[in-house]
Amino acid sequence: MSGFSEESLHRIFQSSFAGRKGILGPGSDCAQLTPPKGRRLLQTVDQVVGGVHLDVHATPTAYARKLLRRTLSDLAAVGATPWTVSWTLALPTDWTASQIRTLAKAFLKEADAFQVPVIGGDCSQSSQVVLTCTAMGLDNGPVPGRAGAKPGDVILVTGKLGASFTTGSHLLPEPRLREGKRLVQNFKPHAMMDLSDGLAKDLPRILRASAVGAEIELTALPLDRSLSQNQAGWESAVGEGEDYELLVILNPSQSKRAMEDRTLRKVGIHAIGFVTEGSKLRWLENGRGKRLKAKGWEHHWS
Ligand SMILES: [Mg+2]
Repeated sequence: MSGFSEESLHRIFQSSFAGRKGILGPGSDCAQLTPPKGRRLLQTVDQVVGGVHLDVHATPTAYARKLLRRTLSDLAAVGATPWTVSWTLALPTDWTASQIRTLAKAFLKEADAFQVPVIGGDCSQSSQVVLTCTAMGLDNGPVPGRAGAKPGDVILVTGKLGASFTTGSHLLPEPRLREGKRLVQNFKPHAMMDLSDGLAKDLPRILRASAVGAEIELTALPLDRSLSQNQAGWESAVGEGEDYELLVILNPSQSKRAMEDRTLRKVGIHAIGFVTEGSKLRWLENGRGKRLKAKGWEHHWS
């Protein structure tokens, strides 16, 4: 990487590291972590690859922000509070020292905004941008998986769905950390996940894991304001992906309470359908079966 040493990158990491109870940060081969008593640790790893998750010409800052936010969204999906992150960067040789510094500083700044210390990193070269981020979180109650959905449960989503590419919201996803924690602490989700690949692809993951089916009422989908309640709007909402909203399965009485919850209502929480017996996912328009083309997001950038 042009005139930019690994040591100077390490110096950026180290100078920015703010120690916290139980966390010894960068400066040796491993970060040493002592989790708080009685809390369980959750760990997730995610990546951003140039030409796959972001346009190859995206700015260093855009890469950094999307990487961290995507990763933290996985912690939100289990209601965990971010505790530490570490990351790796492999960059093409034509990245300048100033671009690399911008990337590192943007990542650290973003982590600071989410109050999560960066405890380590590693860098290397690659023919395209390959960034990974590992996040650890602390649990805030029983961790919802994907296998607990039962027939009769209500299917809900936070926020709005669709148009993440046309509006550019996929560049700066908002991990629903506060809402995930709130749901886990107060409403006992039977299953929960974050919507990264679109409802059409992500919901079947819960349905398969739980061995159930579902009916989704398309007119109940909370659409991005740029979309209309029509075929094109619904296709975008269930198929475009990169919404980073929470998909939540609650029993009917918890669902009723959740929809009245002030914290959740701030970002929006909407019931969009029901869990059914069987294994089919059916789309409905005002209660009548509707065929959709959307299959959820596939990795492709041209
Ligand atoms: Mg996820």
